[in-house]
Amino acid sequence: MEDSKYEELLDTCYSELPEVLSKKQRFEIPDVKGRVIKTRTIINNFTDISKQFNRDSAHMYRFMIKFVGVRGEVNDRGDVTLFSRFQPAMLNKGIHAYFNQFVECSYCKSPDTELLDNNLKIKCKACGHEEKIPQI
Ligand SMILES: [Zn+2]
Repeated sequence: MEDSKYEELLDTCYSELPEVLSKKQRFEIPDVKGRVIKTRTIINNFTDISKQFNRDSAHMYRFMIKFVGVRGEVNDRGDVTLFSRFQPAMLNKGIHAYFNQFVECSYCKSPDTELLDNNLKIKCKACGHEEKIPQI
């Protein structure tokens, strides 16, 4: 095969790649910013994370409390205090679990979704996929 023909072939192959591959940027799940004070763990950016997820922070809080299995409280500024000591890795695991279950579309993996029916259904704004989700 001639070189020029081979290059032409390559060009065609690349242009035939689905657009989503090149266009879609991977959504960065934010890291939990927290600190341990005595027997408590305080998360300072809990509200920020819920905003980036486009979720109600109270919904995410209920999930987090269940995930870590201890009681907690939320102050006026939206900082979350958990009544135990946690490593950041554990808290990040909780945030990732929430993202997977209640933010990311299970069909096309887009994070551009919304919760409907009193948080019992997730709808994807990218592909239109709808799915029931568990009550927290
Ligand atoms: Zn989707």
